[in-house]
Amino acid sequence: MNKRMNVNSDTLWKDLPRGGAMLDAGNAVDFKTGDWRAMKPIWDKDKCKHCLFCWAVCPDMSIIAKDGKLVEFDYDHCKGCGVCVAQCKFEALELVVEE
Ligand code: SF4
Ligand code: SF4
Repeated sequence: MNKRMNVNSDTLWKDLPRGGAMLDAGNAVDFKTGDWRAMKPIWDKDKCKHCLFCWAVCPDMSIIAKDGKLVEFDYDHCKGCGVCVAQCKFEALELVVEE
């Protein structure tokens, strides 16, 4: 079994698996893919109706819901694709340029 690797900004290229292959399953949480996001969804809580359509379509499971309500965004892993923004019919989400 492969040892789970903690990749971060201090990881040297020579320590990565050849070709950047991910050798162990279930490791997506270890990779902070939000680092390379160019756009970012901003949530307006006052306009949100908690329909959770955005939660259902997020390809990265970066929208966190609890007890049937949207509670926060996981910006460590959100890639800024904007699918959630396009899905929201209540204008509770806006896609802005990442700063
Ligand atoms: S789709 Fe819009 S209104 Fe529905 S939960 Fe998401 S942010 Fe709220
Ligand atoms: S921008 Fe994309 S990855 Fe980020 S929360 Fe919305 S749907 Fe998920």
